[in-house]
Amino acid sequence: MTATATLAKYQALADQATSGPWSFLPLVNGMPARTISARPGFGTPTVASVQAEPDGAFITASRSLGPAMAAALQEILELHKKDPGSHPYEDLCTVCGDYYPCPTVSTITKHLEGK
Ligand SMILES: [Zn+2]
Repeated sequence: MTATATLAKYQALADQATSGPWSFLPLVNGMPARTISARPGFGTPTVASVQAEPDGAFITASRSLGPAMAAALQEILELHKKDPGSHPYEDLCTVCGDYYPCPTVSTITKHLEGK
């Protein structure tokens, strides 16, 4: 799967999930709860319950950070495009001027495509 397809798939999953921001509630009314809530307050819809507080904090942060990071990576990939015919022997990146794929694109694809 290409990096762009992976990012689109991730964004689709995020779009279908309960909207954020989420909050981690280690306690509710002074009692251990360890729940992740979509809207803190009375009668809050619980998204998930976790056993460990670090897991709750991580999942909660991921709801906002994941889509933001995916969007940033997608925008970077859209900027660093191949510029056909920019060099007599190989295409260059439109931003870096390095041979395509440039180090920026290679770094992203290495992590998202396993290349
Ligand atoms: Zn580049």
